[in-house]
Amino acid sequence: MDCLFCKIVNGEIPSKIVYEDDLVYSFYDIEPQAPFHILIIPKKHITSALEINDGNKDIVGHIFKVAADIACEHNIAQDGYRLVTNVGKNGGQTVGHMHFHMLGGRNLQWPPG
Ligand code: 5GP
Ligand code: ZN
Repeated sequence: MDCLFCKIVNGEIPSKIVYEDDLVYSFYDIEPQAPFHILIIPKKHITSALEINDGNKDIVGHIFKVAADIACEHNIAQDGYRLVTNVGKNGGQTVGHMHFHMLGGRNLQWPPG
């Protein structure tokens, strides 16, 4: 399958790893929008959060748990962070493999643009 993030997961395209386990892979975003900006993705291809169903929904809870652990390890837990997934064209999704942005290290604005 011609998917950028599948290629990152299997090492065909290099990335700067933050965390990995059997289910998820996490790496630094190539165009950081905050001092701390990583992506957390399922290793198994899921196109977007729209594809979440009863058979794969556990991965979302796992990603939130992994994010909390990463926040503690990278000292952004206390000041806070944002964990967000963009869905489809209007959501601003540009890569068709579900990914959660984790942003921290500055005071993030709301609503986003
Ligand atoms: P989206 O716009 O789909 O929510 O987010 C896609 C994200 O992937 C963007 O923040 C973009 O900077 C990041 N990205 C795109 N291509 C690459 C790449 O080859 N390597 C890394 N590390 N990040 C990428
Ligand atoms: Zn993929």
